[in-house]
Amino acid sequence: MSRSPFVTLRANVAAMRDAMFPLYVVRGERNVLIDCAILAKAGEIERNLEALLGDAAIAMVLLTHSHYDHTGACSRLQEKYSFEIVASRRTKEILENDKAVAFIDDLNQKFKRILNDRSPSVFTKPRAIRAVGENDRIPLPGGQFFEVFETPGHTRCSISFLLQPEKILFPGDAAGVMETDGKIKPLFLSSYTQYERSLEKLLALDAEVLALAHNTAVKGKVRVREFLSASLAETRKLKEKIMAWLGHSQDFARIADRLLAEEYASPTIMGPREALVINVTAMVKSVFYEFVKVP
Ligand SMILES: [Zn+2]
Repeated sequence: MSRSPFVTLRANVAAMRDAMFPLYVVRGERNVLIDCAILAKAGEIERNLEALLGDAAIAMVLLTHSHYDHTGACSRLQEKYSFEIVASRRTKEILENDKAVAFIDDLNQKFKRILNDRSPSVFTKPRAIRAVGENDRIPLPGGQFFEVFETPGHTRCSISFLLQPEKILFPGDAAGVMETDGKIKPLFLSSYTQYERSLEKLLALDAEVLALAHNTAVKGKVRVREFLSASLAETRKLKEKIMAWLGHSQDFARIADRLLAEEYASPTIMGPREALVINVTAMVKSVFYEFVKVP
């Protein structure tokens, strides 16, 4: 018998074995996916979902934010499954914007080239998006429900989902990214201050499982707490480092290059370099505008 492409995480939550994108499925009368990885994975995801669920439907997809590597396979999968999408108001706006959709497709096409995917697949505008916000509840059959928490700072559109009563937390990239070597890398792309506040908010939720969007999940209340505390410490350390460099020069591109070489040498997401440069430059700018050049 071949190895299942999924492992059971806790309760009715399964995670697809994938070093970059461990896609999460909450199984039940209404199957739910959390985030959609990249377009290049769409075919593999479809095959794996068939192996896991047979011909059962996917009723809903929860999106933690609008980034290309969380939404890439969304429209392809929606063609097959016709699910409803649940996302923040801002994510909904972004995914309904032609320019943003073209940008998400462009980065996904670049990722396809890296993975040698020559198929003609494209990311198109997803349909049926429902916006949710702070403290909204998304009920599931059988008494489970998701609680929604706004956790901006990684992006302005970032939200996290807490599956109750099991307390399985899906933070998207708001908790930082675990690199291949196990180190935690902060990703405060839209705002350092909000990112730090969001991390504190996630810590206070006392989750039992932290289902990270990249690499793997962290299990057990103590380990989740340790991970989030370490993520917070790394975040503050990186801010100090950027502040020190900004003290010498305000050449954002050069500082970003240096950061990329020193701090992001073994990324979990081996995607287009362009996306990494955009991200790291955004972090330098957020520290600059929030702490150096305060208006
Ligand atoms: Zn992201």
